[in-house]
Amino acid sequence: MFRKLFCFSNCYFRRWLYGFISLLLTIAISLGNIQPSYGISWLDLVIRGIQVVQLSNISNVQEVQLGKEINQELISSGRAKIYKNQSINSYVNQIGQRLAKTSQRPNIPYTFQVVDDDSINAFATMGGYVYVHTGLIAAADNEAELASVIGHEIGHIVARHALEQMKQRAISQGLLSAAGLDRSNAIQIGMDLAISRPNSRADELEADRFGLKNIIQANYAPAGILGFMNKLLKRSGSVPSFLSTHPATSERIRILQNNIDPATANNGDGLDNRAYKNRIRSL
Ligand code: ZN
Repeated sequence: MFRKLFCFSNCYFRRWLYGFISLLLTIAISLGNIQPSYGISWLDLVIRGIQVVQLSNISNVQEVQLGKEINQELISSGRAKIYKNQSINSYVNQIGQRLAKTSQRPNIPYTFQVVDDDSINAFATMGGYVYVHTGLIAAADNEAELASVIGHEIGHIVARHALEQMKQRAISQGLLSAAGLDRSNAIQIGMDLAISRPNSRADELEADRFGLKNIIQANYAPAGILGFMNKLLKRSGSVPSFLSTHPATSERIRILQNNIDPATANNGDGLDNRAYKNRIRSL
């Protein structure tokens, strides 16, 4: 009886021990497989309780939250100075919301803000955050031209370009773990990307395609996009920053021209120059 009992507990212990060892081996093998390709180990992140962002399958809600935090950092660090004119901001927001509704990604909230900067530029981060410089608003001749730029920026959000760039940069800097990217690193990278805007030629052309479709769906005259791009191309002297960060302008114009029917290019809203100048007179 005693012997039997001993055997029972011994066998039970041995079975438990084998199970435990095999579990340890499994963990060691999976970590061994993961660790060589990443900067921080998965275990490290768990132990240190770091909040990570899983970039490969980020939800809309998480992307919007990340866009919001990048926005807060851009503003608090002074990298983006929001223009304090209510009527201009609400005008840009009104155009943006009209476009967002007919975009290929209407199911997230969009935030359109005007940046106090004389250079002719606009940019987007992620989760619906779009920024338009005062210099660009002043350079446009009508609402359709301004709408075409905003439509292009929405196109970058539709195609999730910033998320892909964030992933690439995190990998190149060895910051991506198997669990994802440390949240504070994600915000820092997102802010750097917003400033440097390293959009590739392929990204630009894709954003143009989405943008053109979007402005037509929103009933803006597609002539606006050609008008604005040609204006930039003709500008002599120093190259506007819009051109340096949005490469291959002549090629983009050629492709857009191929996709716009000249017979209907002026069909739609936004070509009234006087009405536009009146709307932005407080600029
Ligand atoms: Zn772009």
